[in-house]
Amino acid sequence: MFIANRGEIAVRIIKTCHKMNIETVVGVSEADKDTMAAKLSDHVICIGPSTVSQSYLNSNAIITAALSSKCDAIHPGYGFLSENADFAKLCDENNLIFIGPSSENIRKMGNKLEARKLAKSAGVPLAEGSEHVSSVNDAYEIVNKVGYPLLIKAASGGGGRGIRIVREESELKQAFENASAEAQSAFNDKKLYIEHYIDNARHIEVQVLSDHHGNVIHLGDRDCSMQRRYQKVIEEAPACNLPDNLRKGILNSAVKLTKSIGYRNAGTVEFIYDVDLERYFFLEMNTRLQVEHPVTEEVTGIDIVEEQLRIASNEKLCYSQDDIKILGHAIECRINAESAANGFRPTPGKITKWMPPIHDRVRLDTHCYDGYVVSPYYDSLMGKLISSSEKRDDSINLMQNALEGFIVEGIETNINFLSYVINQDKFKNYFITTQLLEDLEVSFANKFNQEIKN
Ligand code: ADP
Ligand code: ADP
Ligand code: MG
Repeated sequence: MFIANRGEIAVRIIKTCHKMNIETVVGVSEADKDTMAAKLSDHVICIGPSTVSQSYLNSNAIITAALSSKCDAIHPGYGFLSENADFAKLCDENNLIFIGPSSENIRKMGNKLEARKLAKSAGVPLAEGSEHVSSVNDAYEIVNKVGYPLLIKAASGGGGRGIRIVREESELKQAFENASAEAQSAFNDKKLYIEHYIDNARHIEVQVLSDHHGNVIHLGDRDCSMQRRYQKVIEEAPACNLPDNLRKGILNSAVKLTKSIGYRNAGTVEFIYDVDLERYFFLEMNTRLQVEHPVTEEVTGIDIVEEQLRIASNEKLCYSQDDIKILGHAIECRINAESAANGFRPTPGKITKWMPPIHDRVRLDTHCYDGYVVSPYYDSLMGKLISSSEKRDDSINLMQNALEGFIVEGIETNINFLSYVINQDKFKNYFITTQLLEDLEVSFANKFNQEIKN
């Protein structure tokens, strides 16, 4: 197996490969030669310089490395080339198994306008929205149909980029231009569309698994509403406080869509849930392993990477829907190298002390260690801390203790902020919406400034 990724997810994939007695080759950039993935992998091959365009995004270099090291499959992890349809196709053409869906699946779902159409024809509810909006003038017209507040979104978007909220007409022009520029630079595609913005909302998503024989199952739902700038920070499984009929509706919609497009391998169907009106709408499908997949693993007992590998080698799913039982509750916190006190700017540098908490119900997926240097070249995720227990309250308590006992020195992290958030009544009592984390960010900053003054 060739691993075309880095960081915690490369380590995560190596672990499952070794469990299954699969030999691994990890492709590393020059900056990553001493990483944990490099230490744990059976073989290591350098794929290029530190800059991602020359290494982790360099399809040709990766294919060449995979072929020269006699691999028969490539796991792309998440981010980088994982949702690149051309890369998946290139793998096929070189007789390398791409661990993921077909390039056609990726292409269809990678364009959110296309995805909305497919969801609609599968009978999945969509938020009020538009087709491609090519100019500000067009946008003004669409507003009449969609109404304020609205979101301008990039058709090729991902990772929360290219999204702008517009609450009144005076903001529309600027927001449209900014979103367009951001979409162009991030995705090389400035196509935008408009969706009605749901103010009091939760992000709920469904993990699906689908084999090459037409079998599709879901592994339950996750609540990923705790976000900063449309990026997830804390995730949990299952989503709580959901009326039964709506949960069923969301789960069925995810399976229906997955089936209708002949999707295969692991995927995630994302929904926005309107808390006031108790309605849900399709957002997008992520055609890859998700950052937050561990919370689902903890409540189902299923190793999702293992299932990905089995599916890719043409095996039939060994579970039917009835075999899937959701037991307990799991919470994940993303540990980032960033300064919560300084607008969450990244804080790369050397970790001089790394003492993670140890507890049998707390899992840590990480590539960090004592002395590791967090590189400025890549994103700031240092690891994911996952607690699980029978009840949500207990998982929160476990997480609190784990965060408080997690010692990292040398660089600043967001651990203090996470600890603050987990302790808030609104989080504990599940008054969770996509706005909550940013509200807590403000109260955290105020508290922090107060402490500095005193
Ligand atoms: P997921 O959808 O798996 O929960 P996110 O929504 O956080 O993950 O991110 C979506 C994708 O964008 C992921 O594949 C992740 O690797 C990538 N990503 C996340 N944060 C960043 C970042 N700061 N810079 C670049 N890519 C990112
Ligand atoms: P990305 O591809 O960047 O992940 P998504 O469409 O999944 O984009 O949206 C990212 C986040 O933006 C969601 O998790 C949610 O918080 C917010 N969001 C997206 N669409 C809406 C909407 N129509 N109403 C309210 N919030 C939304
Ligand atoms: Mg999304």
